[in-house]
Amino acid sequence: MVSGAGKRRKGSTTLKGLGIKYGATVRKRYGKVHRTLHKKRRCPSCGSLRFSRIASGIWLCPKCEFKVASGAYDVDTEKLQS
Ligand SMILES: [Zn+2]
Repeated sequence: MVSGAGKRRKGSTTLKGLGIKYGATVRKRYGKVHRTLHKKRRCPSCGSLRFSRIASGIWLCPKCEFKVASGAYDVDTEKLQS
């Protein structure tokens, strides 16, 4: 008779959207990127806060249609304004 068997643990600490195969560093970075993406930013042309990323590296202001190619996750508006 075998005793002590059948003690299996099911690790299900999966983060929403990301699998467990990604390390903690990647998850941390994902969180930072996510916050950066949803941060309100000002259009360098007209100052509208609706300036947002329409595609990876492409940012667009729907108000004045100012379009700029910048970083995939953030846009350096300070650099653009100077
Ligand atoms: Zn604008």
